[in-house]
Amino acid sequence: MPRRTDRLPLPCQAPGTARSLTIHRYGRTGARPKAYVQAALHADETPALLVQHHLTRLLDDADAAGEITGEIVIVPYANPIGLAQILNAKHMGRHELGGAGNFNRNWPDLFEPVAERLGGRLTAEAAANVALVRKAMAETLETRKPGSEIEGLRILLARQAVDADLVLDLHCDDDALMHLFTIPAHWPGCAELAAELGCRAVLLGDPSGGDPFDEAFSAPWVRLAERFPDNPIPPACLSATVELRGQADVSDELAGADAAALLAFLRRRGLVAGDPGRLPAPLAEATPLEAVDTPKAPAAGVLSYHVAPGAKVAEGDVIAELIDPAADGPAAARSPIVTRTDGLVLSRRLHKYVLPGMTVAKVVGRRKLPHRSGYLLED
Ligand SMILES: [Zn+2]
Repeated sequence: MPRRTDRLPLPCQAPGTARSLTIHRYGRTGARPKAYVQAALHADETPALLVQHHLTRLLDDADAAGEITGEIVIVPYANPIGLAQILNAKHMGRHELGGAGNFNRNWPDLFEPVAERLGGRLTAEAAANVALVRKAMAETLETRKPGSEIEGLRILLARQAVDADLVLDLHCDDDALMHLFTIPAHWPGCAELAAELGCRAVLLGDPSGGDPFDEAFSAPWVRLAERFPDNPIPPACLSATVELRGQADVSDELAGADAAALLAFLRRRGLVAGDPGRLPAPLAEATPLEAVDTPKAPAAGVLSYHVAPGAKVAEGDVIAELIDPAADGPAAARSPIVTRTDGLVLSRRLHKYVLPGMTVAKVVGRRKLPHRSGYLLED
């Protein structure tokens, strides 16, 4: 069955404007497993857009060879609103300029409405319960009526993803190594994905505190299983945020290899026939998100880094110096910023001018840090 492409209109936000969401569909609708892969919900995270270009080509070839066995939904760009947000020649793709906030926060919490809808209908069969939960999730989203273009976009994306077995949300960090975020219920379920992609960290949010897109589809299963302990409810949606290195890591070489890794993972999971090849050796163990130190800038200034992504550091090591160009004398001008954990430097800032409180780096340690709780993501 050849690829179908839908162009779904978003609600009109201003007179005379119209935007739409493009969706590529492979395989028979309703076939299992179902995968949903979207790119650049943070619209300025360009590596994801190029990966989708390559992945679409690879899936077209697999389709032509009759290899698609599941259902695969590809959203080549998840955020046409953000793609248009160029302000003074700079791309502002992370927050909605109309005031709706970070595009990847505050996704709908489906847990309570779905628990209510399930009522006493759950059974002793896990497969039957999975179908009931998916139906209740879809019905919950059907009741949502968008009041704006951004709400319309969110509901549209969520409806495409809500019944998937696999949800991959492709992002990138600032200046970073490949890594991914998921919830503890999907480790080691995500281990093959992490190995295929060469992830240098797998960060487990329990939860992350920001209601990102990926957790909207994975976390409710865990909470439903806790609410209804007498009925088997497996974590039926493996969902992850994949961070495709840093903003500047955009090339056909990288994106082609990343797309090939995603295709191999889809083959391994039975969505595409054919040999996925040998699984690469894993480069990371999963660690709790509370174990990631995020040193902050104590004042405004210019960062001069002492370490690059990939460096191993120890607690107390200087990550960067913060420089006040107007300070009197070299001693006053330079303030060291240290890490509070032993670990791997996963990311740092691409733009080196900072204001007070801005995060300077992510350092992945193994033990949970007392100062890391509640909201664990970066805005
Ligand atoms: Zn992002």
